[in-house]
Amino acid sequence: MTGLVIVGHGTRSAAGVDQFAALVERVRRRGDVGDVEGGFIELSRPPLTDAVGALVARGHRALVALPLVLTAAGHGKGDIPAAMAREQERHPGLSYRYGRPLGPHPLLHEALEERIDAALAGTGLAGADRAGTWVALIGRGSTDPDANAEVAKVARLLWEGRGYAGVEPGFVSLASPSVPAVLERLRRLGARRIVVAPYFLFAGVLPDRIVAQSAEFAAAHPDLDVRVAEVIGDCDALADLVRERYAEALGGDIRMNCDTCAYRVLMPGFADKVGRPQRPHDHPDDPVGHHHHHGHDHGHAHDHGSVAVVGGGPGPDDLITVRGKALLDAADVVVVDRLAPQGLLAGLRPDVLVVDAAKVPRGPSMAQEAINAALVSHARAGRRVVRLKGGDPYVFGRGHEEVQACTAAGVPVTVVPGVSSAIAAPALAGVPVTHRGVAHDVTVVSGHLPPGHPDSLVDWAALARARGTVVLLMAVDTIAKIASELIEHGRAPETPVLAVQDAGQADQRSVPARLDEIGAVAAREDIRPPAVFVLGPVVALATTGRTD
Ligand code: SAH
Repeated sequence: MTGLVIVGHGTRSAAGVDQFAALVERVRRRGDVGDVEGGFIELSRPPLTDAVGALVARGHRALVALPLVLTAAGHGKGDIPAAMAREQERHPGLSYRYGRPLGPHPLLHEALEERIDAALAGTGLAGADRAGTWVALIGRGSTDPDANAEVAKVARLLWEGRGYAGVEPGFVSLASPSVPAVLERLRRLGARRIVVAPYFLFAGVLPDRIVAQSAEFAAAHPDLDVRVAEVIGDCDALADLVRERYAEALGGDIRMNCDTCAYRVLMPGFADKVGRPQRPHDHPDDPVGHHHHHGHDHGHAHDHGSVAVVGGGPGPDDLITVRGKALLDAADVVVVDRLAPQGLLAGLRPDVLVVDAAKVPRGPSMAQEAINAALVSHARAGRRVVRLKGGDPYVFGRGHEEVQACTAAGVPVTVVPGVSSAIAAPALAGVPVTHRGVAHDVTVVSGHLPPGHPDSLVDWAALARARGTVVLLMAVDTIAKIASELIEHGRAPETPVLAVQDAGQADQRSVPARLDEIGAVAAREDIRPPAVFVLGPVVALATTGRTD
């Protein structure tokens, strides 16, 4: 039977550790979950690594890891999967299914109801006087809005049909309303009796803080009857729920709430979380000591794929953005362009599928459609897909076509801007595309279609009249025609031009010429793609030699 490891975050509270241990023992004693161990990822003993080690020593190679958390915030989404990833490094071949957070669940609501009744008892009030009792349900509080919303949901579900005057959610850390704020709110609503119910599994520093803050509020309002209920604690309801989550994980039916997950969906104020990989943070109490991060730690351990269209920069491995690199490290599939930084591929985990977009079958006209289809199908299969492109995805990169295809297919997609060769290639060759007193505009132009081509959207005459910088991409074959068109419409023939080939690479080279000679010079010097042509007065400022 598949082993179960119950994972706690850890607490400085001895009572909390005891309650956790008692629950593990309760689950074990029932005998319906096979082999059970419990461990903490930090602060408390036993450490997770001992719990997993014990199960592995008894022959388990596949486990259910159940995070003993009420809501899926950072601990459930990030820290615990990261700790399990470390265990997988320690025990090659170990696999695990990740259980769903416990709440909200009717078993928990019933347990909360019992704790509230117990708080009302002793004065002969239980049950009968619910109508005169307000409940402040206090959750941990999180920077994850979805986790906070769960507490609000539980507050509502706890209120439905139970006859309390009302149930209001509050938080003891990181989120508002705070404990005093929610108590004040209830007071103003006319509450005379309030039960503060900690939405916590076990004793700990934060539940203690709830007690202290409630006592302080009560002292300041002697006319109010303020009581604090016990935490949920070790009980049969919790053991039942653990067994249910275990069975659910084994059945593969993990319905985590992904619709409002900040790591997946852009929510106001939380844009920085979208697509952010989860990494293990140092757990000093982990007896194995240091961790070595291998980039495979991800919190979203369930089946929602996504696509990130990532600008890889102009070529060198270290000109990708930090965000782009982080997404690459967490990817399951990388669909890569020829001009994307190839060196980054060597750093991917061996199990990452690399798809060479240049070799996508079905011929050149179908290529983009086939790429779009590949992105969508890998994401739908639950994989994290990185579409790694050269430069910036939206600068002649067709990046937005891919974003549109994902959006149309209902696949979550994000864009990570990149350093475009349009700016970087001149810079790496010593040319600033703008300079005070020299050029106040820079125009980036595709030279793919020559002047006069019926499909061309470029106003070459206007570019010729303008005085600033023009950067031409994809213009190796068209540079002679473009140069004569610009001169014909008024650019000075002696305008300096620099061709920059393979910018950022070991074989980067740049070739200068006047505008009226660049066509011939580029041909004679055998300028080949990828190359940009930068023209305008800034070119005269070029520092000599490479600048990188
Ligand atoms: N999205 C890319 C551009 C794609 S179009 C970006 O933002 O950089 C491809 C063109 O980019 C090439 O034809 C060439 O003009 C230019 N290019 C890309 N990488 C380059 C490099 N390392 N050196 C010079 N030009 C480059």
